[in-house]
Amino acid sequence: MSKLKVAELFYSVQGEGRYMGVPSVFLRTFGCNFKCAGFGMPRGELSTEAEDIAQVAHHYTKYEQLPLVSTGCDSYASWHPDFKDLSPMLTTDAIVNRIMDILPHKEWQDEHLVITGGEPLLGWQRAYPDLLNHPKMKGLKEITFETNGTQKLTDDFKKYLFKWRNQNKQREITFSVSAKLPASGEAWEEAIQPKIVCEYEWFGTAYLKFVVATEQDIADAERAVEQYREAGFQGHVYLMPVGGVESVYTLNAKNVALATMQRGWRYSDRLQVPLFKNEWGT
Ligand code: SF4
Repeated sequence: MSKLKVAELFYSVQGEGRYMGVPSVFLRTFGCNFKCAGFGMPRGELSTEAEDIAQVAHHYTKYEQLPLVSTGCDSYASWHPDFKDLSPMLTTDAIVNRIMDILPHKEWQDEHLVITGGEPLLGWQRAYPDLLNHPKMKGLKEITFETNGTQKLTDDFKKYLFKWRNQNKQREITFSVSAKLPASGEAWEEAIQPKIVCEYEWFGTAYLKFVVATEQDIADAERAVEQYREAGFQGHVYLMPVGGVESVYTLNAKNVALATMQRGWRYSDRLQVPLFKNEWGT
């Protein structure tokens, strides 16, 4: 039986992107290929908030106790090695049992599964077939992979995704691609990978979702979209305001909405910020 290192597993309302407002189970896997320490910082500077908290990581025994950050990656504990002990390795059976516990009817009805991270398309691709093949997962119809769009799908996982989708006409697979712009602190060539993202479109719906704060970020998003389109990408484009905490998020939400209107793109809120203050487990 496969195992996954699980940073968080919770039930909430999807706050972002295509399924905004849909009740969803979130499976957050551990590990990411990026650090995204540039968010919320003056361009060229990197946040040390996660590193500072890591210095006292031993004080924390649960996610809920960890401080929220206003700069850098807001899910730092799902990849920073100093927090790895907060993320247990669980068998797919154990994960399914926990999912059944948190679903309101103890079975899938109209809820949606979000597999997120960290970066959920790292090595964990090999474990998802075991998870999704579990008899109690049969009623699941919609899955979103929230990815940074840098990880190729393995041949085995591609075959599996085709099979899973074709077993039931109501099934849908979505790739919510939050490609990282220079404001994240990550290098363009590593973060913007149009060929990889175009391939996601073979298996269902893929869309791009850029986190932006400034005019420069929006210009960067335009440049990235040009590269994705040149490679053949057809999906929608969303802009989402930066900000894991409300004070930062509300600063630029309206400007971001106006920017999407001018370009015929879509606006994505971050409902988890106004609704739940972006607390862990939301
Ligand atoms: S890709 Fe996502 S999870 Fe990974 S460091 Fe960046 S924001 Fe955090």
